[in-house]
Amino acid sequence: MDMAACVDDVGKPRASRKVCVIAAAAAAKPVRVHSSMYASLRLLGPREVMGFSDFQFVPARKSRCGGGDNPGGRDPRRFPGHREVYLYLRDFYRAAGLTDSVRFNTRVVRVAVAPPPCRGGPGDALRWVVRSMDAGLWKRCTDDQMAEAHCVEEVFDAVVVATGHYSQPKLPSIQGMGDWKRRQMHSHWYRVPDSFRDEVVVLVGCGDSGMDIALDLLAVAREVHLSAKSVEAAATPAMSKMLARHANLHLHPQIERLCDDGRVVFADGGGGVVAADTVMYCTGYRYSFPFLDTEGKVAVDDDDNRIGPLFEHTFPPSLAPSLSFVGIPRKVMVPWFFEAQGRWIAGVLSGRRALPSEEEMTRSVEEFYRARELAGVPKAHTHDVEPHKMYELGEKYCDFPRTEEWKRELMAIISRNTSDDMETFRDRDDDSDNVRRCLQEWYALAEHQAQDEEDPAAAAAQAPVHSSL
Ligand SMILES: Cc1cc2nc3c(=O)[nH]c(=O)nc-3n(C[C@H](O)[C@H](O)[C@H](O)COP(=O)(O)OP(=O)(O)OC[C@H]3O[C@@H](n4cnc5c(N)ncnc54)[C@H](O)[C@@H]3O)c2cc1C
Repeated sequence: MDMAACVDDVGKPRASRKVCVIAAAAAAKPVRVHSSMYASLRLLGPREVMGFSDFQFVPARKSRCGGGDNPGGRDPRRFPGHREVYLYLRDFYRAAGLTDSVRFNTRVVRVAVAPPPCRGGPGDALRWVVRSMDAGLWKRCTDDQMAEAHCVEEVFDAVVVATGHYSQPKLPSIQGMGDWKRRQMHSHWYRVPDSFRDEVVVLVGCGDSGMDIALDLLAVAREVHLSAKSVEAAATPAMSKMLARHANLHLHPQIERLCDDGRVVFADGGGGVVAADTVMYCTGYRYSFPFLDTEGKVAVDDDDNRIGPLFEHTFPPSLAPSLSFVGIPRKVMVPWFFEAQGRWIAGVLSGRRALPSEEEMTRSVEEFYRARELAGVPKAHTHDVEPHKMYELGEKYCDFPRTEEWKRELMAIISRNTSDDMETFRDRDDDSDNVRRCLQEWYALAEHQAQDEEDPAAAAAQAPVHSSL
């Protein structure tokens, strides 16, 4: 769903500032947007580590949702389905009273540095011209001229880009792709397994989507073939278990070519060939900011899936702090990490925190790139943040308390369980005694939050919900 949030006065001390946050929310009358979520999708991490710092992702109370085992269609599992995440974000949006700050169904079509006469904000900083239009109209516009006529143009002191990066499919380049006559699709378009009944399906990519969708298809498809960039890397204990359990699942190396007659030839030198009905590319997504014109100061490297330069994945040195990005990092705890980025940006824009100089930030980005290269990390993994770095960033740049030890321990347990068994890790109950005890305390604390939402007056007498176990 398209949305632009415009916020006056981020924090207090500085002179009044108008900030445009381009992001998502749950609208009353939404314009339909095709997301990348398939029906069976469940979280990869448990709800206890997923919530905002002051609004825990606690299961909804039955009384609030109409009772029954499945109150109001809510999903109480520790690793709930994607709809539960949407409902949690909607609860948060309501509890935080964000209604007045959000313009729903608004598509931002252009963001560019304002010409000099428009500048002169606090400290004579850069300002930004933001053009937007009704998202429904945008969808119906048949040409640029028509779109132009419906655009609204405003000037902002700062822009925060938070448009996500799971909507522009990334496709591999495979010989014969262009001429292949049978079904080819990206996982972005996958929803349910029904239309794959009795088919032979080749899934390209063994990441989270590839493995998840393979499990979805195994029940209905005749054969499911997973193609991995590196069979050695893909052959985890979890993969071995999946292969042992499902006779119709097979693992292959990369595809060498697709043939006119429907054959898929794998690059294993041993003549591995499959006659497939469908090839599905579970090959991830690209960074894309078609609306953003920074005159080349921030660029997306499409081949390497990197956007930069960005100091700590957030501020472009030459345009900071008036331009910033939330949500670029991958493999982080969401939305916890993005909240930390948001707090950091708000702190800087309000003058409570200072950034290093442009030169220092640029040097830091260069050093980061060099260190990753020396460590042999492919450029495409530039924005993968390791767990220790994620915690460090959260604590260094905003006032977050240190992430509790039990949460770190829990994440390590989940990570182990995931690589051990993809099919069961979400429903396992083998936490350590310490984690189990802390989980009980977390659920007890989080229960206060549920009461707060139902009965704000009674909640005023209760202790605050901040989890500081
Ligand atoms: C299949 C799949 C499974 C996943 N599983 C997990 C998981 O288990 N756990 C986890 O933590 N993460 C998971 N993720 C990642 C998670 O979805 C993202 O990290 C998260 O959605 C990022 O939030 P965001 O707000 O940055 O971006 P998004 O949720 O992508 O929101 C961006 C919003 O910006 C809007 N927008 C874009 N362009 C414009 C514009 N020009 N004008 C106005 N609005 C615009 C879009 O419409 C969109 O609504 C998964 C992702 C996928 C695809």
